[in-house]
Amino acid sequence: MQREVTRRGVLKWIGRISAATGAAAWAPGSFAAAASAKVPAKRIVVLDPGHGGVDPGCIGTGGSYEKEIALATATEVAVLLEASKRYRVQLTRDDDEFISLEDRVARARQAHGDLFLSIHADAIPNSSVRGASVFTLSERASDAEAAALAQRENKADLIAGIDLSRHAPEVSNILLDLARRQTNNLSITLARKLVGELGRSVPLLTNSHRSAGFAVLKAPDIPSALVEIGCLSNREEERLLNMTPYQRKLATSIARSVNDYFDQLGAA
Ligand SMILES: [Zn+2]
Repeated sequence: MQREVTRRGVLKWIGRISAATGAAAWAPGSFAAAASAKVPAKRIVVLDPGHGGVDPGCIGTGGSYEKEIALATATEVAVLLEASKRYRVQLTRDDDEFISLEDRVARARQAHGDLFLSIHADAIPNSSVRGASVFTLSERASDAEAAALAQRENKADLIAGIDLSRHAPEVSNILLDLARRQTNNLSITLARKLVGELGRSVPLLTNSHRSAGFAVLKAPDIPSALVEIGCLSNREEERLLNMTPYQRKLATSIARSVNDYFDQLGAA
């Protein structure tokens, strides 16, 4: 009995979202909005500058901190997106604050984000290599390098998934299955837009779209990607990443890819 009621509730819920979005496909991230019968006029983009506070992230050969470059670049992206008037932008942090990866995901979900974009800079053993890359979630990292990166970003305290204990198991299973499938597809769409736009203006690593088990990308209902905007292990790229014009160049490409993504969604 309980099960039937639950299933019916879920189906009603899905129908309401389809009607609210005007699409047959369910748009993840609209969950909370549709549930409260309020569809936000603007898309909500959550930007997540990596690291912060006691966690500096990667440290460049010249001593730059990843956390500072990530925040500066994310702030530039936020300015561009806000200026377009298409979005409401929320940063997971806007100062030098330590936030666990679990909390970053929680903040994105609290904000009812339609899209989550984590911004980082990498450091790799080969100092001659430079370029940006984009990651989407994979339960198993696509290669050893990606696995090592995911491990660096995740740290020890943050290998936490979403807390599903608040939902009835039947609801959780159905919702999560629906959400994950749709969210994964949309995350890949977003990553392709990012690679396309970034590739027009800055160097990319070979194999520029990869997947890894980043805890910060694990919101089951928010399309998510992580951008490594360059390599602090490369002296020239570290120099550029510290410069505001270069950060703006990256931000312009990232903002364009967000536009491309939502344009494609709107056209679907
Ligand atoms: Zn990082």
